[in-house]
Amino acid sequence: MSLLNVKNIKTYFFLDGEELPAVDDVSFTLEQNRTLAIIGESGSGKSVLVLSIMKLVDHPGEIIQGEAYFMGETEGDLLRMKEKEMQKIRGNEIAMIYQDPMSTLNPLIPVGKQIEEALYIHKKGSKKEIRKKAMELMTDVGIPDAKKRYGDLPRQFSGGMRQRIMIAMAISCAPKILIADEPTTALDVTIQAEILDLLKKLQNENQMAMILNTHDLGVVEDMAHDVCVMYCGKIMEKAPKEKLFLNPMNPYTIGLIECMPGKGEAKGRLNAIEGYVPHPSDFPKGCRFSNRCPYAMDKCHETLPELKEVAPEHHVRCWLVEDGIPLIRN
Ligand code: SF4
Repeated sequence: MSLLNVKNIKTYFFLDGEELPAVDDVSFTLEQNRTLAIIGESGSGKSVLVLSIMKLVDHPGEIIQGEAYFMGETEGDLLRMKEKEMQKIRGNEIAMIYQDPMSTLNPLIPVGKQIEEALYIHKKGSKKEIRKKAMELMTDVGIPDAKKRYGDLPRQFSGGMRQRIMIAMAISCAPKILIADEPTTALDVTIQAEILDLLKKLQNENQMAMILNTHDLGVVEDMAHDVCVMYCGKIMEKAPKEKLFLNPMNPYTIGLIECMPGKGEAKGRLNAIEGYVPHPSDFPKGCRFSNRCPYAMDKCHETLPELKEVAPEHHVRCWLVEDGIPLIRN
């Protein structure tokens, strides 16, 4: 049984009379103790997708279609749950850590108190027990001298330590799923490695499943079991990590991998995908990558290909792959 089964989610934004498809018919499953990385450039729809699953999309955004079954179909569809039911799940069964802890932590409340919040809401215990648990969590995530630092404010911590506090808050109720939205983007490389190691350790200890949003394929190589590649709200390719890195098929995935240090063809400089992710009001007709794809054919500019299973567990959206045409750059 999948821990999370997301089916055909569409989240659109309605602005100035326009329909903007931020997430467009996305499906995936997530298993216990596995990490699904959702990758793509900024603007690909990764964050809106996870916010949709948490039912945290604000006006003018709206989830207009889809289902998200947590713990099987009998437990119910998150997207149809009433807010009161969702509040029992958010922070308890499914928790989230964000890219920028400073904008998420309350600058005026001691960090220990902020860690206690979810415990008060979701778990039973006396004030003393909850305080003890908060300090244990601080120690678990590598904050030295937790007793002394319990009363400190967020600004008294470094960026890496603040991210550890966010992680302590997120794991406080031992969630079954941890969603990490670009958790290390704001950190320098050494701190990033420490935070990723910490997440791996916590996952193994708690058997959590993780959804990891990132544009960093080095992080994906290190952390993920399965990967979804998103572009302009659509999944372009989906596969177990090894298959994806060994045999990427969609030109967008290939482009992302070639941008990784040491993976591209160019010597001494990094490759780049030319151009930018278009605004949702400006998605091209046909394949959404067609205005940047070095392999685009006439058909690509006319019709959007389906996401198809082209090998066991390997799904690709691309006319070249579907029609068996070899990759030859235009
Ligand atoms: Fe490129 Fe065409 Fe494949 Fe889209 S369908 S990724 S434009 S080759």
